[in-house]
Amino acid sequence: MKFQVKEKKIYIETYGCQMNIADSEIVASIMNAAGYSVTGNISESDLVLINTCSIRENAEQKIWNRLKSLKALKKRNPDLMIGVIGCMAERLKETLLESNLPVDLVAGPDSYRTLPELTFHAERGQNRINTILSEDETYADIEPVRLDSNGVSAFITIMRGCNNMCSYCVVPFVRGIERSRDPESIVKEAEQLFSKGYREVTLIGQNVNSYYWEDGNSVVKFPQILERVALINPLLRVRFSTSHPKDLSDELLNTMAAHKNICKHIHLPVQSGSTRILKLMNRQYTRDWYMERLATIRRIIPECSISTDIIAGFCTETEEDHRETLSLMEWAEFDFAYMFKYNERPGTRAARNLKDDVPEEIKLKRLNEIISLQNRLSAKSKKADIGKIYEILVEGTSKRSPEYLSGRNSQNKVVVFPSGNIQKGEYVNVLIEKSTSATLIGKVI
Ligand code: SF4
Repeated sequence: MKFQVKEKKIYIETYGCQMNIADSEIVASIMNAAGYSVTGNISESDLVLINTCSIRENAEQKIWNRLKSLKALKKRNPDLMIGVIGCMAERLKETLLESNLPVDLVAGPDSYRTLPELTFHAERGQNRINTILSEDETYADIEPVRLDSNGVSAFITIMRGCNNMCSYCVVPFVRGIERSRDPESIVKEAEQLFSKGYREVTLIGQNVNSYYWEDGNSVVKFPQILERVALINPLLRVRFSTSHPKDLSDELLNTMAAHKNICKHIHLPVQSGSTRILKLMNRQYTRDWYMERLATIRRIIPECSISTDIIAGFCTETEEDHRETLSLMEWAEFDFAYMFKYNERPGTRAARNLKDDVPEEIKLKRLNEIISLQNRLSAKSKKADIGKIYEILVEGTSKRSPEYLSGRNSQNKVVVFPSGNIQKGEYVNVLIEKSTSATLIGKVI
């Protein structure tokens, strides 16, 4: 390989979403092939790659602060190469190189194959940026190197990019257009993981429901690829994230209901309960459509848990719009939610066409109302689990105490229980005895 190195070490630091966690494993594999071994100790590394997120301003601020903190390390070891990769690299490009911070190379999410070459040139102070977005790159042929893995569950990226153009979102600008990965390579990766002892895979993409692969003879859509992975082995649990309400089909729900090992949890971002706001967000569904989808999920898979994303204080949001979000939450009784206040992102449709006119203190007040309502709903959802028996896939020792093990039920809820002589990767039946706001506690039966 042209840009091969000997005995060099790479340290990868990952920020942001599941896609970035999976991308860092692709990067580790590409750099391994170029001769770099992954180290968990930054001070012994020759190359540091920071895999960044751009979804909100504070995500980027974290990286600017991190780069400032790396100045000392670079001073101690001037030969150390530091690279910024991922969504912030794609969004800011040369700005990162022109900053007076220790940045030697910049690579966007579709240019990781060129990292060995970029590093080679950066070491010689030459061309050190590649932020070209691709229409077909899926890294399908690259076997990820699992980082920080518990050896039980792993992410499999089945598609990249997003075509939805939600007006507040930077993703389409930093990750490009949607492209789905060859189904054979997805099934092969899942089979390899199962043979290595993994017992759970999560199929990920910005919007997995619009997975679409066509090769002239056949068409493979999301329900089909999900089923093919589930049919690998009944002991392999299958999860997926993230779904988009406009693409959530009855066919998908029937496929989930037909396979015990497809986990009964759907993450279905709603963002707002007001159809007027959903229109301004370009979410392409209405409040009624979303509620109809939830009702259909609960009809076809009654035991399915549902989590969501909510944005408070989007452009022009009135108190009445906010009340609609609260009333939808009351009706939906989400099991869990990620909740944020609107943060205008440069270059997005909203930033170009809409005024960020909801005062900060109103955004905060509404966000706090949404959070306290969701805390009540989450606690209610967990209380309802007391007395039930769930099959748990053991993921490892519980963070709360070494005498306890932890795992998740099919509904993606964390369950802890006394360890006994149970090993991670095993399935156990646990009777739920009590609950806290975050966890279910039980005993193996
Ligand atoms: S679906 Fe919308 S919010 Fe999600 S990544 Fe795509 S553009 Fe962003």
